[in-house]
Amino acid sequence: MITVLVLEAKGIKKRFGGIIALSNGNLRCYKGRITGLLGANGSGKSTISKIITGVYSADEGEIIYNGKSVKYRNPSEARKDGISMVFQNLSLVPDLTVWQNIVLGAEQKNGFFLDNNHAKKLSKEILSQLLPDLDINKKINELNPGEMQIVEIAKAISENPQLLILDEPTAALEQVQVKSLFHSMRNLAERGIAMIFTSHRLWEVME
Ligand code: ADP
Ligand code: MG
Repeated sequence: MITVLVLEAKGIKKRFGGIIALSNGNLRCYKGRITGLLGANGSGKSTISKIITGVYSADEGEIIYNGKSVKYRNPSEARKDGISMVFQNLSLVPDLTVWQNIVLGAEQKNGFFLDNNHAKKLSKEILSQLLPDLDINKKINELNPGEMQIVEIAKAISENPQLLILDEPTAALEQVQVKSLFHSMRNLAERGIAMIFTSHRLWEVME
């Protein structure tokens, strides 16, 4: 199998005041492959992901994406460049419906306004693999934590990323939801998407 390097993080260091969150962080992501990011709580997994997507800036080191050195100022800049991240802390709007949340922001990215029917169809399509029974007209505040997490993942997938970063996506999920997430991730990998999968559960990373 030919491996195409999509992103490389080299020698990343980050401190918060006196705490060194990460030192000499190195990571590589390849087209169509899932990179497992494994470690105990507090080992710097979220920190390196947030440095890649511009939530934080690194004190040392370099991020190379598609052969170019990049330094995003915020996650929306990274998103425009094809790097989407599913955050550990959810970013959904509770009063809006499932489908409205999935397409939120997509209009700006594509430079046109999606009509509602198209947006609903797109949301249904993406969720058909992850959680087919979910009613897309429900509001986020009517969902359980696992469902919310899956909508968050669907939103990131709808952005058509080249690199998808999933930071502890399974923490709030039930076993059956974990299985459908993994199934969906394998499909994304087959489509050539590079992923970072973070967990502190070894069996999940191995699978
Ligand atoms: P992980 O995701 O592996 O659990 P983190 O990257 O969240 O680890 O955190 C790594 C270390 O950096 C921890 O000691 C954490 O307390 C510290 N840390 C992370 N974010 C901040 C922050 N915004 N301010 C201060 N310390 C932080
Ligand atoms: Mg974390």
